[in-house]
Amino acid sequence: MTLIREKLTLPANETKLLLHSCCAPCSGEVMEALQASGIEYTVFFYNPNIHPQKEYLIRKEENIRFAKKHNIPFVDADYDTDNWFERAKGMEKEPERGIRCTMCFDMRFERTALYAAENGFSVISSSLGISRWKDMNQINDCGKRAAAPYPNMIYWEYNWRKKGGSARMIEISKREQFYQQEYCGCIYSLRDTNKYRKSQGRGLIKIGVQYYTP
Ligand code: SF4
Repeated sequence: MTLIREKLTLPANETKLLLHSCCAPCSGEVMEALQASGIEYTVFFYNPNIHPQKEYLIRKEENIRFAKKHNIPFVDADYDTDNWFERAKGMEKEPERGIRCTMCFDMRFERTALYAAENGFSVISSSLGISRWKDMNQINDCGKRAAAPYPNMIYWEYNWRKKGGSARMIEISKREQFYQQEYCGCIYSLRDTNKYRKSQGRGLIKIGVQYYTP
C-alpha cells in the first residue's frame, strides 16, 4: 500500500459523516480511509447525471457491493433524471469543469445536504474530489453552497488525493476489480469522450465492458 494514511478527524468534533459517493472506484479509498480512522459514516448515492441507466446501475451496484463488504450503511437515493436534464438545459455544449458541472455538483450536494439535515448528520463530504479529472475548488464551492442554508452543517473539504490517496484509489480499484467507467457520467460527457476517442483513432465506449484488473 502506498504511503501511510493520516488519522482523520471530522470538523467541529462531529462524530458521523454523510458521504456522497459518485462511484466505487472514487469512494473505495475514501471509505477505507474513514474506516481506518474509526469514523462513523453512511454512503449516500445520488447521481441522476449518470447516463444511460445501464451505466448508472452498474456503478451503483459496484458501490453497494463494496459498502456491503465493509458493512457500511448505503442510502440509494432517487434517479431523478428529468430534474437533471431540466437543470442542464442550455448547457449541453459546455465543456467538462464548466458551468454544467457546477450545476451537476450543486444538484447532487443539495440533495445530500437535505438528506443530512433530515437524518441527523451535521457533516457532509463527497468522493468526487479524489478524481484528478475534477476541479477540487469547484467541488468544494458547491459543497459549501449546499450546506450553507442549514445552520451548523459543514461541508468537509478534506483533500482525499493527498498522502497517497490517489495511488491507493487505483490500488483498491484493482484489488476489488471494480467496474472502470470511461467517462464522467452524463450523456454530454459520453458524447465528448467518444468524440475525442474517435479523433485519436480509438473505438467508442462500450458500456459495461471495462473492469480494473489486478
Ligand atoms: S461532465 Fe460529469 S460533472 Fe460535468 S455535468 Fe457531466 S456528469 Fe456532471
